[in-house]
Amino acid sequence: MICELCGKDVPVLNPIVIEGTTLNVCRECARFGTAAGEGKRASSGGRGSLEERLERRERRLRERDVFGEDEYVLAEDYPQRIRRGRERLGLSQEELATKLAEKKSVIAKLEKGDIRPDNALIKKIEHHLSISLRERVREALTPGRRGSRPLTLGDLIKMELDKKKREGS
Ligand SMILES: [Zn+2]
Repeated sequence: MICELCGKDVPVLNPIVIEGTTLNVCRECARFGTAAGEGKRASSGGRGSLEERLERRERRLRERDVFGEDEYVLAEDYPQRIRRGRERLGLSQEELATKLAEKKSVIAKLEKGDIRPDNALIKKIEHHLSISLRERVREALTPGRRGSRPLTLGDLIKMELDKKKREGS
């Protein structure tokens, strides 16, 4: 059984509620939330160690940033970025397709978001349109609020769940 908060493999999971989200977690993480269905705080004082964990995680992310590429993901608005980039150069979909040695239908689907470009295609498009189709994972996870306020418990849980989703599929 995998703890949904820290990812540890443990024999027993406890359902808890943290900021409205129900999670199955290990005993250690159970103190961060309220036991599901009981409505009482499992413990106070768990906050400190969670914040430590958060800090360690931040540090880890900062360190990994140095190594670059793996920390970049396809931007969710890649269809608009491609279209804007193409129109800025005054190219038709067909002309861009020719430049990229792709079919026109591929460009059309990309701009509608019907297909996601693979890494090779991303690089080709970025190169020919002089745009970036990628953004840093951290920015993708916490859009527009970097540095504006400290991460909350809810943010941390969302990040953990997103990470699991990415790793799991
Ligand atoms: Zn745990």
